Amino acid sequence: MQLRCPYCSEMGGLNGTHSHMVATHHDLLRTETDSESGKMHYVVPCPLCGLSYRHRVKPRNRNPRFLSEFRKEIALVAFDQMLYHVVHEHPDAVGVKVDELRSE
Ligand SMILES: [Zn+2]
Ligand SMILES: [Zn+2]
Repeated sequence: MQLRCPYCSEMGGLNGTHSHMVATHHDLLRTETDSESGKMHYVVPCPLCGLSYRHRVKPRNRNPRFLSEFRKEIALVAFDQMLYHVVHEHPDAVGVKVDELRSE
């Protein structure tokens, strides 16, 4: 299955596009820590519907540098979620046919 990167229209397979998004668009990933609760989140924007995909990050320990030290790992997870989102919510926009999805 081939699809277009939702951020810059580069074509690739699922894994290729995932690596491409992590490598090229990782600066779109935002991370934030709630100053009161200490809860951490990552936020990644969908360029197609404007939705910001916000998800809780649960570090195993209370490392205040967790978000910067594990940025690469967080990016892998965040863009995996975004890829899933665009393929299922915006298949036309990324060049995926719905019957390709069913056979996947
Ligand atoms: Zn791209
Ligand atoms: Zn979207």
